Amino acid sequence: MPKIANKVSSISFDCWIKTLQPEAFSDGVYTLLSESRAAKEYARNDRHFPYIEAALKETAPIIEQVKIIDPVEKEGAAPLNAFRANAVLQDKLLVNPNMTFENFIVGKSNEIVAAAAENVAKNPGKRINPLFIYGGVGLGKTHLLNAIANRVINEKPELKIILATSEKFTNDYVLTIKSKESPQEAFREKYRTVDILLIDDIQFIAGKPGTQEEFFHTFNDLIQNGRQVVITSDRHPDEMPKLQERIRSRFKSSLIQDIGSPDVEMRTVILQKKANMENHRLEPDVVQHLAQVAVDQKLNIRDMEGMLFKVIFYAGLMNHSTPTLDDCRVAMKEGVGEDKKVQTTADHIIEKVCKYFDVKKGDLIGKKRDRCFAEPRMFAVYLITEFLNIPLVSIGQMLGNRDHTTILHSRNKIQSSLVTDPRTKMIVRDLTKLIKSE
Ligand code: ADP
Ligand code: MG
Repeated sequence: MPKIANKVSSISFDCWIKTLQPEAFSDGVYTLLSESRAAKEYARNDRHFPYIEAALKETAPIIEQVKIIDPVEKEGAAPLNAFRANAVLQDKLLVNPNMTFENFIVGKSNEIVAAAAENVAKNPGKRINPLFIYGGVGLGKTHLLNAIANRVINEKPELKIILATSEKFTNDYVLTIKSKESPQEAFREKYRTVDILLIDDIQFIAGKPGTQEEFFHTFNDLIQNGRQVVITSDRHPDEMPKLQERIRSRFKSSLIQDIGSPDVEMRTVILQKKANMENHRLEPDVVQHLAQVAVDQKLNIRDMEGMLFKVIFYAGLMNHSTPTLDDCRVAMKEGVGEDKKVQTTADHIIEKVCKYFDVKKGDLIGKKRDRCFAEPRMFAVYLITEFLNIPLVSIGQMLGNRDHTTILHSRNKIQSSLVTDPRTKMIVRDLTKLIKSE
């Protein structure tokens, strides 16, 4: 799917294409399930379908034909074997191309674990096997796993690699139990024939006996055959009470590396790097200030990024080419307010939101709950409350007679994800520009 993302606007991509789910694969026909009929129509139109088809065929050459069905068609069809459809794509699509070693800043808190991960990518199954990485949330575990995957995909494309969360592993396993045709084999075919297995957030399998059992055998099988296994967890094996003893002892015989919280110097480097990746440059005093705030507030790296995006966003609203210290203070105190001076109307905002997301006004204010309409609706609510001083009850009336608590909920949802989610931030930024432009 990342291949398609470049060809289609990011909003359309997220809304209509990323939501397609592998449904089945048989006789060369790869079937995708869309969330709704509208989504199916969109994905099937001439502007998008050729890209979807080409990207899938390129990823898995055994695919001869691609079919997209909607939930109603699925109901009518014979049950399909979803598990095989997933296996065809080998989960390669789940690797985040931005999480590379090149983008990973190394400092005291992570140098050993980063070196271990690079070594694994260089000599999979050889020296450090298995590798167990643990550390608090937002400190780079998922980044390192993806970095290993990206390096291997680029430099050793012949190796078969799976990067999955333990939830994905569990879901695949549960699916095999439910499906009738030789289920175990399909699952084993997938997980035991890999050269490298990367499992993120293993803590979630604690408390799931069946999955633990299967994982234990998969793990042993791979290690015995000289295949590489890397596992991450938000805690040490000793701190997972529901983990089976034999798995715990297997983990404890791994190379266990923890990943810590970065110091202020490392934070300045990370902040500058993240800003550069977004095509921004930070002044030394600003970057120092942000790093210090992050240390004082004990922010993890993900939250620190959130803070940075907020500051950059605010500076953009103020038309500053680079954030000032004042921007940092205001942005962190007040969020993105400030724009209320602009003259606009609710209708104008709704019109811009519809244009941006490519939806009809009737659908935006209508009753449909598909994500493709619900999401633009939430952005419309948020922007109306930001730009205009209108009571929530009135906003509800404008948007298809919705209750004011629904309106409040939508506004809060966008407001909070604005801090943590770069995509939300980007959409609000784009829309703000659009609304201000005319
Ligand atoms: P975890 O899986 O430990 O919860 P992630 O790997 O998802 O954390 O990291 C959270 C965010 O911080 C991601 O955007 C990641 O790219 C970034 N990040 C973490 N560590 C570093 C680092 N050392 N250098 C650059 N970015 C980092
Ligand atoms: Mg993670």
